Amino acid sequence: MRQFELVELVKSYDPQADEDAINRAYVFAMKAHGSQTRASGDPYFSHPLEVAGLLTKYKLDCASIITALLHDTIEDTNATQTDIERLFGVEIARLVDGVTKLSRLELQSDQTKQAENFRKLVLAMSEDIRVLLVKLADRVHNMRTLRFFKDPDKRRRIALETLEIYVPLAERIGMQEFKAELEDLAFAELHTEVRESLLTRLNFLREQGGDLIGRIMDELKRTLADAGLECQVSGREKSVFSIWKKMQHKDVAFEQLCDIMAFRVVVANIEDCYRALGIIHSRYPMVPGRFKDYISIPKPNGYRSIHTGVYGPVRHRIEVQIRTREMHEISEIGVAAHWKYKQGAKTTDGRQYRWLRELLDILEHASSPEEFLEHTKLEMFQDQVYCFTPKGDLIELPRGATPVDFAYAVHSEVGDTCVGAKINGRIMPLRTALQNGDQVEIITSKAQTPSPTWERFVVTGKARARIRRFVRLQQRTQYLDLGRSILHRAFKQEGYDYTEKGLDGVLKIFKVGSVDDLCVVVGEGTHTGKDVVLAVYPELKAQHAKAQLLALDNNVVALKPPRPKPKHGHAVPIKGLIPGMAVHYAGCCHPLPGDRIVGIIATGKGVTIHTIDCDMLEQFAETPERWLDLAWEPEVENNIHVGRINLVLLNEPGSLGSLSTVVAKNQGNIRNLKITNRTMQFFEMLVDVEVRDVRHLTNIIAALRATPAINSVERARN
Ligand code: MN
Repeated sequence: MRQFELVELVKSYDPQADEDAINRAYVFAMKAHGSQTRASGDPYFSHPLEVAGLLTKYKLDCASIITALLHDTIEDTNATQTDIERLFGVEIARLVDGVTKLSRLELQSDQTKQAENFRKLVLAMSEDIRVLLVKLADRVHNMRTLRFFKDPDKRRRIALETLEIYVPLAERIGMQEFKAELEDLAFAELHTEVRESLLTRLNFLREQGGDLIGRIMDELKRTLADAGLECQVSGREKSVFSIWKKMQHKDVAFEQLCDIMAFRVVVANIEDCYRALGIIHSRYPMVPGRFKDYISIPKPNGYRSIHTGVYGPVRHRIEVQIRTREMHEISEIGVAAHWKYKQGAKTTDGRQYRWLRELLDILEHASSPEEFLEHTKLEMFQDQVYCFTPKGDLIELPRGATPVDFAYAVHSEVGDTCVGAKINGRIMPLRTALQNGDQVEIITSKAQTPSPTWERFVVTGKARARIRRFVRLQQRTQYLDLGRSILHRAFKQEGYDYTEKGLDGVLKIFKVGSVDDLCVVVGEGTHTGKDVVLAVYPELKAQHAKAQLLALDNNVVALKPPRPKPKHGHAVPIKGLIPGMAVHYAGCCHPLPGDRIVGIIATGKGVTIHTIDCDMLEQFAETPERWLDLAWEPEVENNIHVGRINLVLLNEPGSLGSLSTVVAKNQGNIRNLKITNRTMQFFEMLVDVEVRDVRHLTNIIAALRATPAINSVERARN
């Protein structure tokens, strides 16, 4: 094909096509490929030109044709994405980039067992349907010239990939002609001899029967015309590949395969489809089990037609397909037909390809078919992402999935022990959302266990379930320990020894199966230690009834998450607890006299004091032996302490002034001040204030809240 021929072809169905752009793309690609040649010895440029030519048969828009001309320039020549964007605009650059990405993807896939996932990945990455159409045409031309490759393994691999990836894709988007050609070319490569012998056999039958197809066609036409039905009838032998598939599938020999001829009746409307069916069935005996009404119930891919098998003219078993013209075109050229129809009038009926209908919905709201194609995304797989393992296995995940989801999808064990992830070779946070085509390598460590924080960002059910299970197990261990120590104390307080044996008799009362379970429910706070003691020693009930008001202090209600009980039973003043140990206040929560506090022993560093609700305490949950139950001594309360507050100030003149005035009026002293965020309207800041105790700080906070220039105030936590 020559330059002017291509331009004229496009202009014949799209008079508004940008002739100049096509010409520029033609020259650009020809120059870029220069003296490169194909395996056939042809100049390389003949390939993109053929691909463009294939697409004109489907009457595709100008942008698709230009994309076809340019489709190999980024991958195989010095041309860059930037060049193409500069010369042909953003849209073309994006389309060419899409085709290039798909070509690179091909190189990664050695494994055909994951064909289904791979097909979905191709669809998801195609985004714009035109990318996929160009890719399919590219594959058709490559298959046509496959025989020129010298390496038989390479030929075989490409043919197999065509059969497993591209044939189903072509079928899926309804490109019947592409599908049939790709299938036959792959078949010729993979099973050369089988195909030859089938062709020979078909030829023999053809010669024997004369022009059998022609004769049957003529009679069918006459029969239908006599009954007053306007229609077109065509006939063909089924493809050798589909005959071969049937032979394998049904395990029958070629001789027994009678229905190798198929006839197609195309009529004006759906009513005529059923009329034609009636005429054929009343004239010829039906072959049982061959009747299928895909008009009433379309195939999942949207295919619509009536199929029936009859002992037709000259007593030959034949298959007859009956459909309307529109159904016919859609089944032959799929998406392109929809596009064509949409350019003209609305489709005559509502039931089309299910997923295509979604695309068509977009069309309803687009002002032109071009805009439709431009904005069309292949929505059907947009809610999934496909990622590779380092070995090249494909893992299918929901959109938004993270490396943790990926790790659990690979194996539970990998998920439980994952500590980090490399995405495309770079270390990335575990909460990163994965993208289509990412290669993910999970780093594991035997010492790692699932983190409860993962639950906030994982999206797969499997990951969530595993993390929850682990957290539950861990909680149970904590409740168990806590419950046991509560029971120890409860028994001791009544003057008894705690023995597990003694508890066996009361398990039923608490509806638990074991002593451990009993400890857990006590640890959780469902029952108190006192409940258990009274169950074991019912005689104590009378005594307790008398002294009901003298509440035992063993009604420990577990905090959630449970905190280990301090080693020492009673609160102790800070000073004098462990002589010589330095005491300092935690920078995270800034405890003040009056706060409930707890001490954490840091080996060699003394005791750090936190407020009881400080988040930092979480990290010491596993080491109860480091906890000290502390209280304030009266003399400490005269010292000066630092309280930290978080506030949001209006960004206006004088607001900082009113802050310091209010603090000073309330006998506070600002020690430090730090702006953490600044917007047009507000300052957010951290303010350290010297105060006597928590009540003093609370007063200052209340006073600040009453100040108009201050939007919000609260005590800083971490
Ligand atoms: Mn190509």
